[in-house]
Amino acid sequence: MVQDYGLFVGGKWRKSEGKRFETQNPATGEILATFPLASKDELNGAVRAAKDAFEKWKKTPAPRRGELLLEAARIFRQKKEDLARTVTTEMGKVIAEGRGDVQEVIDFYEYAAGEGRRMFGETVPSELPSKMCMTLRLPVGPVGLITPWNFPMAIPAWKSGAALVAGCSFVLKPSSLTPLCAARFVEVLDEAGFPPGVLNLVTGSGSLVGDGLVDHPEIRAISFTGGVDTGKHVYESAAKKMIKVGLELGGKNAIIAMDDAKLDLLMDGVMFGAFGTAGQRCTAASRLIVHQRIYEQVVDELVERTEKLRIGNPIDEKMEMGPVASKDQEKKVLEYIEIGKKEGDKLLAGGHKLKGGAYDKGFFLAPTVFAVDRKSRLAQEEIFGPVLSVLKATSYEDAVAIANSVKYGLSSSIYTNDLRWSFRAMQDLDAGITYINAPTIGAEVQLPFGGTKETGPTDTREAGTTALEEFTYWKTVYVDYSGRLQKAQIDTDKLVGG
Ligand code: NDP
Repeated sequence: MVQDYGLFVGGKWRKSEGKRFETQNPATGEILATFPLASKDELNGAVRAAKDAFEKWKKTPAPRRGELLLEAARIFRQKKEDLARTVTTEMGKVIAEGRGDVQEVIDFYEYAAGEGRRMFGETVPSELPSKMCMTLRLPVGPVGLITPWNFPMAIPAWKSGAALVAGCSFVLKPSSLTPLCAARFVEVLDEAGFPPGVLNLVTGSGSLVGDGLVDHPEIRAISFTGGVDTGKHVYESAAKKMIKVGLELGGKNAIIAMDDAKLDLLMDGVMFGAFGTAGQRCTAASRLIVHQRIYEQVVDELVERTEKLRIGNPIDEKMEMGPVASKDQEKKVLEYIEIGKKEGDKLLAGGHKLKGGAYDKGFFLAPTVFAVDRKSRLAQEEIFGPVLSVLKATSYEDAVAIANSVKYGLSSSIYTNDLRWSFRAMQDLDAGITYINAPTIGAEVQLPFGGTKETGPTDTREAGTTALEEFTYWKTVYVDYSGRLQKAQIDTDKLVGG
């Protein structure tokens, strides 16, 4: 039976009388659930609940906040298989990756829980006697979390885990393609026992609920993951309010294959990097830059492996790639395939929609490989689908120049056995993440995650010890126990204390 969800506000699921939208399985077309297109008033109600809850939540000792995160992690672990199936049926990634999505939630909640017992500040010497100085990390206030569909549980977890342990309450606005994953995510947090109003879920359109959240005067920070154009719009609106904003946007990530690369290892990495999650990861390897000495060999092997990929319903354990996430995604990827053909890029594999039988019910595309010119649109623009562009490089320097020639800077990779190239690449590749002898995907939660250039401003990073930055500010405290007025920079002769 199709379940009609409400909005989760102030610790309760609340009915909404307005219009609704459906969420569907991209592999079968089956309708999974319906959700409210929330109104402005309903959004305001959720922010009010978050604001009220914030006043108590920020005073809850941080270790206690961490314990609730640990409890949530325990429940996520218990329900992992069931939740993974929700991820796969609503988003379309293969079930092994659906499990990975939920595992990332568990990993991050366990990691963030520990921050409740760290969250270190500093003690700093004063220039005056009998005076002590320190810094405290304090929560910014109620925050807005705006998330995409490609990691429909992991991305809400990265954002909410850091916000909660920092002492912030939040309103989550998930992608309209994956509200069911968000609802099931919030159900677990509710079961873990977070106080009412600390977490709120509001579904609806990006332009109304998303914009409304960013513009709301009580929202003190926005953490956004999504496309570059939307991200720039969010950045501008947030700047007008002078609030913190974390942006994780697109990527056009490259794997560099040097002529000494171990070929089997390289090919395994390329296939996983390019076609994992049907290429719909912000870190997906959408370019392969190959040294000219091994170019022909790599291309032959790549085409052979691509044509053998098993594509079908992602809930079936045997499948290696599922559908793309929506009709719009399918249309966009097919448009890029046409652009490639028109611009004269050489189609090496795939390049079409899969048809017949069960394929007709979903959004299935053949995994596609093009040999492209370095200036072509397929070499420059994010496609966010199962399309890999292959480029030929004449040297290490040439390969790095190609890799850095795009407007994005999220992830990067080099396959080589030469230590000199490995260490140079760590610094030469203009991206937030560099992998050596591994594909561009596979981030771990205990390390910072984010990019350069139009992937997003470099001042915030999700995950790792940097995760708290988005949701906290530094309070500086001076404690003067001298019993007299002391003047910094003026009392320069009073250097002996007591
Ligand atoms: P979008 O930018 O279209 O949407 C992202 C989120 O923003 C959705 O929740 C969307 O809501 C919401 N939104 C839309 N319009 C507005 C608005 N005016 N104000 C505020 N919020 C709004 O991206 P997609 O969901 O299509 O995700 C794919 C993109 O995300 C890709 O470009 C990919 O590179 C990027 N991405 C980046 C990652 C990273 O860490 N760097 C990770 C994952 C994805 P609605 O769904 O209702 O439109």
